[in-house]
Amino acid sequence: MSTTPTLLLYDTMSGSKRPLEPIEPGHIGLYLCGPTVYDLSHVGHARSAICADTVVRFLREQGLRVTFVRNVTDIDDKIIKRAQVEGISAGEVAAKYTAAYHEDLDSLGCLRPDVEPRVTGTIPEIVALIETLIARGLAYESGGDVYFRVAAFSTYGALSKRSLDDMQAGARVEVSELKENPLDFALWKAAKPGEPAWPSPWGPGRPGWHIECSAMSKVHLGETFDLHAGGRDLIFPHHENEIAQSQGACGHGTFARHWMHNGFVDFAGEKMSKSLGNFFTIREVTALYPPEAVRWFLIGVHYRSGLNFDVEVPCPACARPLDTEAQQGSACPECGAALDRDRLRAHIRFPGLEEADERVAYVYDTLARSPRSGRV
Ligand SMILES: [Zn+2]
Ligand SMILES: [Zn+2]
Repeated sequence: MSTTPTLLLYDTMSGSKRPLEPIEPGHIGLYLCGPTVYDLSHVGHARSAICADTVVRFLREQGLRVTFVRNVTDIDDKIIKRAQVEGISAGEVAAKYTAAYHEDLDSLGCLRPDVEPRVTGTIPEIVALIETLIARGLAYESGGDVYFRVAAFSTYGALSKRSLDDMQAGARVEVSELKENPLDFALWKAAKPGEPAWPSPWGPGRPGWHIECSAMSKVHLGETFDLHAGGRDLIFPHHENEIAQSQGACGHGTFARHWMHNGFVDFAGEKMSKSLGNFFTIREVTALYPPEAVRWFLIGVHYRSGLNFDVEVPCPACARPLDTEAQQGSACPECGAALDRDRLRAHIRFPGLEEADERVAYVYDTLARSPRSGRV
């Protein structure tokens, strides 16, 4: 049996660095919330995937066996909408963008997970979990939907450090006569006419978003597992809801023993977002810079910190630096070229990635010149 090295890792639940102590010596079970496959993935998705990939590689390097589970949300409102727009089925949308996600992460050097469960392949386990929650008084059926009864789970808010009272006060008053409480969230959604649906004890429908991760992690890692990772934006409500579902259903103990959340990715702040959009797909960025430079840049900052991409926007015709706020839909003050959003985005410069590219080249150069490379 391999001995487990002591690895101190910040844990969101306790708010402190704690040793990552595996349940089973020498083995780490890691769950990462994966993509909802309705569109191309953006750089924020790349960051959470690369953070997890770095941890997996490091743990394996330390001699640990890692079971890395990352789900694919392959049925969801956004996928159904996209299917209507593209004139194909929801299943075709999911297959197309799952393949694109794999291509993008492969290009960034991310290892594939050991298990990649899909919602549509996990329906019986999801239905069984919802039935358990209903039997335990933690969920209720209403008009063909099923909701989690948040007020019945006493430690709701523990991960995000929110009290139920604060959440109640801050909750938008939703027009839903189906819910007992505005904070209650859907575990099962009744199908509207024409939507993909699966049979259930509550009628045809599909799972809500949060329940899938509770069902999939239980199937592949057990009721309690070592490490749960994801972007900070998932702490509330997604991960809070996963805890409520999983701990509520098993009635004891801990869901994930360690929580790891990576920071946001931002593109040059507010100014950029107003004119050119505060979001770039992985493909847009890797079309301009080598994927290794992108990876270097994304892991060059502490994983919990926010990461800001500086952006420079030159005129596509004369290269004059443009003020991002002024130019959209206007003409270049230098050469008079018409400026549109797509053209500007295609010529954008990321100085941080240029610097990262130089650093990667420097590493390769140093390696090539080292005596161990055999070239000197
Ligand atoms: Zn999840
Ligand atoms: Zn110009």
